[in-house]
Amino acid sequence: MNTRRAIPAVEKILQSLGADSLPRPFVVRLVRGELARLRAGGESLSSGEIVEEIRVQIDQLQRSRLQTVINGSGIIIHTNFGRAPLGAAAVRTLGAIGSSYSNLEYDLSTGSRGSRAGYAERALALLCSAESATVVNNCAAALVLLVRHFTKKKAEVIISRGELVQIGGGFRIAEILEASGARLREVGATNKTTLDDYAAAIGRETAFILRVHQSNFFMSGFAGAPPNETIARLARKQRVPFLVDLGSGALAATEKLGLVEHEPTPAEMLKHGADLVCFSGDKLCGGPQAGIIAGKLRLVTALKRDPLFRALRCDKLILAALEATADAHLRKDWSEIPVLGLLQTPLESLHSRAQGIVRQFAPPSLNLLVVDTNGELGGGTLPRSVLRSVALEISSNDFSPNQIAARLRQATPAVIGYIVKGKFRLDLRTIFPEQDQQLIQSLHSCLTNTK
Ligand SMILES: *Cc1c(COP(=O)(O)O)cnc(C)c1O
Repeated sequence: MNTRRAIPAVEKILQSLGADSLPRPFVVRLVRGELARLRAGGESLSSGEIVEEIRVQIDQLQRSRLQTVINGSGIIIHTNFGRAPLGAAAVRTLGAIGSSYSNLEYDLSTGSRGSRAGYAERALALLCSAESATVVNNCAAALVLLVRHFTKKKAEVIISRGELVQIGGGFRIAEILEASGARLREVGATNKTTLDDYAAAIGRETAFILRVHQSNFFMSGFAGAPPNETIARLARKQRVPFLVDLGSGALAATEKLGLVEHEPTPAEMLKHGADLVCFSGDKLCGGPQAGIIAGKLRLVTALKRDPLFRALRCDKLILAALEATADAHLRKDWSEIPVLGLLQTPLESLHSRAQGIVRQFAPPSLNLLVVDTNGELGGGTLPRSVLRSVALEISSNDFSPNQIAARLRQATPAVIGYIVKGKFRLDLRTIFPEQDQQLIQSLHSCLTNTK
């Protein structure tokens, strides 16, 4: 006798699942896939079990949707969490421009075709004290454009061995340069590069000299490289462009914003004699994902005429958010640039919020402590700057630190912390004050219910 249960029909499972929480074609695909898997594997599940399995898959799919999270990591620019949150004005503009027609490429004075990104470009040029500026999709795209544009006749890019940085998971400067058609002419040693190294490398095949900001690491001890000014002078004498990839692109002086390190600014690089600089829009600049290029008018104009520029240009939503972010920088209104606002939140206010949360939420099964911590800026910026901060340290009679982390990730919105020395922590610097009540609710629902 065959004891295997019959595989139920797709329709029956769909009915048992009830109202769709995902568009129906998604659910149908999941059900078909699961039934096919059962048929192929000869596995036997009751229809109730199948429905449960599909519910788990639907839930996983829901969790892969883009959604807000509460960032308790203490890392202000976290690539996994979308880097820079946008300011209120940027979000308002983005909504308005996105939901209507706009003058994206239309000149309202003349009634004829206008230039795209005109305002953003002028604002960015002003912020960088540059003759001109423009913007593409991200800093990686800016590098691709620079390499493709400047290596049309000569292929060699001179770069110090100490600057062949890896940025994040799998993004290496050397690889992106080579993939864009550059032949690398590496100079110097890992820890030392001299002006003579640069001078000796310049030849008939030199397209440009590239300096890359080390971003996420630093060298100490027997290390050194020539100052920008001397490289710029050499480049000018030899008639080769000198380009700088700044990565994080701090428009404001970081040492005045509560950090110990000074991050080189685009304006200062151009003053030192760089012909062009590029940097990210969503790191210390605090705007949307973008790659900003600033410098000599002649070079920026040529880049914008390059056919590749068309493939890398930003869309209207990015430009809208970037205009608002640039305005906030020009006004030094840090309340409109959350990355810079979070950086400057005084420790006292983090302390009083942490104590407020502990006062409002003290179930017997949990132990909540307010502890002093060190956060970081993240996003491959200012690796030496430790950000003093305040965290909630949470331990439980019922759950291990890993279980606490996993449960809080299931909350809506998900709450993300970190574990240090076997203790689960939530750093308050990267949690917006208006999220405190949501946080308390999530702690309550995820950690006081042992089921
Ligand atoms: C972050 C970074 C990049 C990449 O920037 P994206 O905007 O993420 O493309 C490139 N170069 C340096 C030096 C960086 O720090």
